Amino acid sequence: MNARDWVRPEIAELAAYHVADASGLIKLDAMENPFPLPADLQAELGQRLAQAALNRYPDPQGGGLKEKLKSAFAIPAAASVILGNGSDELITLICQALARPGAKVVAAEPSFVMYKLNAVFSKLAYVGVPLKADFSLDLDAILAAIAAEQPAVVFLAYPNNPTGPLYQRAELEAILAAAPGMVVVDEAYTAFASDSFMGLAGSHPKLVVMRTLSKLGLAGIRLGYAAGPAHWINELDKVRPPYNVNVLTQAAALFALDHLAVFDQQAALLRSERSRVQRALAVLPGVTVFPSEANFLTARVPDADKTFAALKAAGILIKRLHGSHPLLEDCLRFTIGSPAENDAVLAALPNCL
Ligand code: PMP
Repeated sequence: MNARDWVRPEIAELAAYHVADASGLIKLDAMENPFPLPADLQAELGQRLAQAALNRYPDPQGGGLKEKLKSAFAIPAAASVILGNGSDELITLICQALARPGAKVVAAEPSFVMYKLNAVFSKLAYVGVPLKADFSLDLDAILAAIAAEQPAVVFLAYPNNPTGPLYQRAELEAILAAAPGMVVVDEAYTAFASDSFMGLAGSHPKLVVMRTLSKLGLAGIRLGYAAGPAHWINELDKVRPPYNVNVLTQAAALFALDHLAVFDQQAALLRSERSRVQRALAVLPGVTVFPSEANFLTARVPDADKTFAALKAAGILIKRLHGSHPLLEDCLRFTIGSPAENDAVLAALPNCL
């Protein structure tokens, strides 16, 4: 007896999501905010969490938290909101809800891998449309794919991971006009970006804007949210596991939203660090650094495997993109860290090329 004989072949051939071991290394591989909560807030949060009713199930709808998210992040009153155990879970719910026989997902690629994986999990056909070599959107190709495939959902990360830039707003507007079903604008990196579609959430019939608190500095609590018209959010809510956002996450998020200024200051520092690191990478011989509106920079180097290994030997873990998609040849992704961590990267890198 072998379990692999009982799972679907497309699942059997997958590898489980791999997270690199970062122990002892400067961890710049996962777009985390490098700054912990200030000590006084950490202590206050500890008291708040100690009062949480762990013997009870959480508020099933997270109603208080939704209201607070709406006011904190200017989510339009017309929008409905759904919460997820990270935005990862929201991608799962979207694919589950839309998995009618024959249904398709269209996404630009390379992009966040969970769009494709969740399409596979839910038996949706996945159609990836390559970006152009400069990582801009191939609008004609996306519109052609939409016309040909009539996808149930189009996923677009704005800004895009793992490349960094925002697409042009007018391009997304054209996609919103052309798509027959849901268009998810994934704004995971919104804290570092100069544009957002949140203002249209609830009033545009196809648009669902998805976000997360992870990149802002709360990756450990796992809270994602999506805002859109009630007709979509109500359907997603039907496949949401009961109590998917636990008591501690709800309490920590409510607390954090009362102290948003702290996270905003950290994001501002990371944006200025991004500019500094970008300038420094750009002058290194043989290095091409791509524009970014996220808390990471993607760069092409002469030999990505060599540079990745040498940085690791120097105590720095970044993300090797090389090998994950043809457009990412010799590309590496550097999460923006604290000023000291970025200094360490910039000091080590010239010897690692
Ligand atoms: N969307 C994008 C574009 C991402 O890069 C990520 C995380 N890397 C996520 C969603 C998922 O974030 P989380 O599950 O932590 O909310």
